[in-house]
Amino acid sequence: MSDVDRRTFLKGLAALSAVVGAGPAGLAASTAAAGQAQPSARALAWHRAPCRLCPSGCGLLVGVQRGRAVAVKGDPDAPVNRGLACVKGYHAVQTLYGRDRLTRARVRRDGALVDVPLGAALDLVAERLAATVAAHGPAAAAAYGAGDWLLDDAYVAGKLFKGGLGTNNVDTESRLDSAAAAAGLAATYGLPGMVGCYDDIEHADVIVLWNENLAETHPVLFSRVLARRRGNAAVRVVEVATRTTRTSYALDRSLLYAPHAELALAHAVCHELVARRRLARDFVDRHVAFRRGADAAGQDAALRDFVRFLADHTPEQAQRHAGVPAEDVRWLASLYGDPARRVVSIWGAAVHQHPRGTWVNNALHNIHLLVGKVGAPGNGPLTLAGQPGGCGGLHDAGAAAHTLPGGVVTAAADRARAARVWGVPPERLDARPGRRAPAMFQGLATGDVRFLWVHGADPLVTLPELGRMRAAARRAGSFLVVSSAYPTATTDVADVVLPAALWLEREGVAAGGDRRLQHHERLVPPPGDATSSARQLVEVGRRLGLGALFPWADDAALTAGFWAELRRFHEDAGTRLPPLAELRARPGLRWPHAENGDTRWRYATAHDRAADRTQGRYDFYGHADRRARIWLRPYTPASEAPDSQFPFWLATGPVLEHWGAGTLTRRVPTLHRAMPGAVVELHPEDARALGIAGGDVVRLVSRRGTLRIEARMDYRSQPQRGQLFVASFDEGRLVNLLTPVSGCPLSGQPAYGACAVRVERLRPGGAG
Ligand code: SF4
Repeated sequence: MSDVDRRTFLKGLAALSAVVGAGPAGLAASTAAAGQAQPSARALAWHRAPCRLCPSGCGLLVGVQRGRAVAVKGDPDAPVNRGLACVKGYHAVQTLYGRDRLTRARVRRDGALVDVPLGAALDLVAERLAATVAAHGPAAAAAYGAGDWLLDDAYVAGKLFKGGLGTNNVDTESRLDSAAAAAGLAATYGLPGMVGCYDDIEHADVIVLWNENLAETHPVLFSRVLARRRGNAAVRVVEVATRTTRTSYALDRSLLYAPHAELALAHAVCHELVARRRLARDFVDRHVAFRRGADAAGQDAALRDFVRFLADHTPEQAQRHAGVPAEDVRWLASLYGDPARRVVSIWGAAVHQHPRGTWVNNALHNIHLLVGKVGAPGNGPLTLAGQPGGCGGLHDAGAAAHTLPGGVVTAAADRARAARVWGVPPERLDARPGRRAPAMFQGLATGDVRFLWVHGADPLVTLPELGRMRAAARRAGSFLVVSSAYPTATTDVADVVLPAALWLEREGVAAGGDRRLQHHERLVPPPGDATSSARQLVEVGRRLGLGALFPWADDAALTAGFWAELRRFHEDAGTRLPPLAELRARPGLRWPHAENGDTRWRYATAHDRAADRTQGRYDFYGHADRRARIWLRPYTPASEAPDSQFPFWLATGPVLEHWGAGTLTRRVPTLHRAMPGAVVELHPEDARALGIAGGDVVRLVSRRGTLRIEARMDYRSQPQRGQLFVASFDEGRLVNLLTPVSGCPLSGQPAYGACAVRVERLRPGGAG
């Protein structure tokens, strides 16, 4: 489908649309038919599969009839959702059957994409990849993976590019929303992967949401939070947030703060805990080490240094930076410091996407470590990802620019192990980290990257500073391959488009937010020539003469073979993975794998078999000294903030109905009708001051671009004065034309929210 055809198609859907409201969490527990007619119950076979439309990791029961997925319901035995599903999950099978589904490979000829046999397209991809490496070296080639890649895809991509070609230029969409979470976990605990698990929700007395609109980002988890409070009158759920959202309306208390003040707030909480002598001194003395410094390694520090550091981070200072009254900061600290209450903190992409995202993650972990509320039922930090494979999964499979499976490219021992497992010469493995996701496109602009293979993602919607990225993708002399289930903004400019199988159309292993692993079978055949990313990568590898790396005859052998290899990278007890047979029998096991089941709370010797009991109640085995880290990393102002020219903060993020760039969810008519397009949400007083009425079209201008968009004051959320919100799923209203590519230097996480804009009122009818 051409660009024009695709836009006409989406416009057609929009013309059908009427805004319909979902419930507060958009939840449903009944069965949804995925077609016009209700399926006959007699011929329906139900199969288990994970939902891949957000990172929560819900389990679904998918009804299959005559080779087609026709119905879906929440799996009552699935531990995450216990029979529920949100509106996306409830319509998940419809994402397979959009009428513009790609079923044939396409190659650009004379400016237009034309259908070709899949084998011919793979020949061309292999030929251009080989020619690029021969002429410009392996670093001129790169692979950009989807945030919902299955581990099969991630592992095979890493093996082909890192082990086969000798470049670490493999990265995924997870870089855009949870790189800082993974870096924060690694810095604090020495290993990626969540410390606690979702079960914490049912044990907590206090749940603190840090700028997480959980009702829309993880609706099923939000339903568990509300159920916990309903079942226990003493439970309190509060938030610290930059705008009032659907989540806010359901909570006990909402503290609104100015964007980018998270470090000031978190340190002020610690200040108060120390001032009130609420720190868990025994825990800290025995299990915590202090570090200071801006770089990843840092330098040694001590508790007394931390106390001195906190002297500059008082609740009054937090009030100045964040606008939260000092008394409210003290109240928040009193919740964490109450020895009688178990406390869970939840945060996600809106916190990670900070110019110092890693530092903010460290600061929030600091609070829990200071009071010893970590790694125990109802006590701990839950760091959520924005992508299904974020916060560890894809990194651990070796699909991040700095990682190998179970290790990092900079460690000689990790490279030696990879060379051994893969059977490649050690010298082929590059010790330098590859290009992170945005840098691949910057490389296209400079000519340093000549071949880029995008899998299942739509970076020309989701990357920041899109004007530059789009120009880079169109630059002559580069070759862009896109594997996708549907036409997207990125396939529009591709040289080759390969039709991709979706998750229910192939076997695989999915990684979820709380270290959860879910194997699933192929339930329905993919349409036409559509195949998995892993299969396409293997086929190209074989054409390059690298077939020995992929001795897997068919897709079933691929899943079994890759998993057996990946387990060899994770033989340490702290990251051990279960055998595939056990994973098949018990979907949803959480690593590290223990003989009698999964691991819910890491590092606590009562719960984690990998922890050494001789260390006491805890063993933070991720660090050589077996101690977790409290980091002394100060509040610093945002890299870009409102000024006289650009007086508004702009925030971006997801909405309930759509995931990512909306590639799948926008093909579901119900979801599309419920949320057909993005708008800019303003505070009513700002709108009045600018003479803007609801429904007016305005122009948003940042230092990087402009965007015409409808203004609303009565929509999903209410930004504070001086702030705006635009949802990021809409390729027709590309908010990322405005956002900056700069971000957290440690993790490479772009700071989408460090974006100052102005609002220009247009004349009626949208004329500027
Ligand atoms: S909450 Fe996420 S994983 Fe669960 S059903 Fe909804 S989209 Fe799927």
